Amino acid sequence: MSSVFRDAVDRIRSGTHAVIDLDAYAANITVLRSIAGEDVALMAVVKADAYGHGAVECGRAAIEAGARMLGVARIQEALYLRRAGLDCPIVLIGPPAIAEIPDAIEHDITLSIGSQRAIDGLIAALRWGSTAAVHIKLDTGMNRYGFTPSQVGDAMETLSRHERVSVEGIFTHFSSADETDPSPTEAQIERFWSSVEELTAHGLRPRYLHTGNSAAILTARVAGTNLIRSGIATYGLSPSDEVRIDDRFQPVLSMHSTVARRGTLPAGEGVSYGQTYRATSDEPIAAIPVGYADGLPRQLRNQGWFVVDGERAPIRGSVCMDQTVVSVPDRVTEGDAVLVLGDGASGEMTFDDIARMIGTVNYEVATRVMARVPRVYLRAGRPVAWELVLSGQRGRIGE
Ligand SMILES: *Cc1c(COP(=O)(O)O)cnc(C)c1O
Repeated sequence: MSSVFRDAVDRIRSGTHAVIDLDAYAANITVLRSIAGEDVALMAVVKADAYGHGAVECGRAAIEAGARMLGVARIQEALYLRRAGLDCPIVLIGPPAIAEIPDAIEHDITLSIGSQRAIDGLIAALRWGSTAAVHIKLDTGMNRYGFTPSQVGDAMETLSRHERVSVEGIFTHFSSADETDPSPTEAQIERFWSSVEELTAHGLRPRYLHTGNSAAILTARVAGTNLIRSGIATYGLSPSDEVRIDDRFQPVLSMHSTVARRGTLPAGEGVSYGQTYRATSDEPIAAIPVGYADGLPRQLRNQGWFVVDGERAPIRGSVCMDQTVVSVPDRVTEGDAVLVLGDGASGEMTFDDIARMIGTVNYEVATRVMARVPRVYLRAGRPVAWELVLSGQRGRIGE
C-alpha cells in the first residue's frame, strides 16, 4: 500500500466515516444472479449514490461481479459515473429531465421513455444526428411513470421506426412486490405480458424484458423476463419486513466515528438542544461528531445507541446536526472508536433498527448517509479505495 493511500485512509478513519465492504456487495450480486438464473442479466441499481454506499466504487464492483449494466434515477447521476471513468452501460430508470436529454445522449446513457413529452424531447435531441438507446417504461399499475397499456403500442411504433433510436428494452415496476398479498403484483404481471405479447405480434419485441426489483426477485415473480433490476438486496438489506433476504446476503455498510470529548453529566443537568434528557446521577458521557447532517435521523433522540468499547452507549438528548451525546462506560476516553451503525454483529444499530424506530423504510435511512461522510472501501478486509465526495477526491490502491 502506498504511503499516500495509507495516509488518506488513516485521515478518514480518524473521524466520522463509512466503511463499505465491496466483497459483501459483490457476493450479494452473485447470490441474486444465482436466484434469477443463468440467462437473466442483472442491472445493479446505484441511484442515490448507491443507496448511500457510493455509486462510483459500487458501480465498478457490480460490473466486475457480473452485472450487465448500472441503473440510476437522474441523468446527473449517470454523468457523475461517466466523469468518474465508468464506461459500462448505464440506464436511467426514471423520467429524464427533458433539457438534459442531449447530455445523456452525448454520454451514451440509455434512457427510459414513458411519456409523450419524453418522446418529443428525445426526437428533438436527435435532430443533429446522434443515436440513442432507450427502454420503454410501461405503467401496469404503479400509476407513476410510464405509458399505459393502451398507449404503449403507438409509443413503441414511433420509437422503433425512428432510424436513430434503438429500443433495447421494455419494463414495468411493481407497486407491492414487497408485501405478502400477491394479487397487485399478479395483476401487474398479467398486464405486462399481455402488452408484450401484443407488441411481439406486431414484430416489436425488444431484447430486454424486465419487471423485477429486489422484492420480486426474492419472491420468484420474474419468470419469463431476462433482466432484473436490483438495488436494496445488493446492499444486503431486506426490501421489507414481509420480504426478507436470507442469510446468504451480507450487509455492506457500517458507519464509524471517534469520541471527540469525554465528560460527566452532573446529576440533575440536562444535555443537548432542548435538554430532553436529564441525568439522575453523575453520568459519564461522550460527544460523538456524527449528527443528522451525516444521516443519523434526529428522531433517534433518546432512543438510538452507538457501540463504544464493545458496549451499547445510549443516545442522550437530541441528535444535533453534527454531534450526538451518548452515555458511556467510565473507562472510555477521547479518541476511542465508535461504531455508529452496521450489521448488528457487535450490538450496534442496523439500518433496519433505525427504520423501525423512526417509522420508515431502510431505503430512506441508507440514502440519508450524506455526501460529507468520507468512505473507505474494503476488499478481503483491507482498504482498496477511499472517497471524499465533498472535495471531489477519491483514491484507489495501485493508482
Ligand atoms: C429503485 C428502483 C429499483 C430497485 O428497487 P429495489 O427495491 O431497491 O431493488 C428497480 N426499478 C426501478 C424502476 C426503481 O426505481
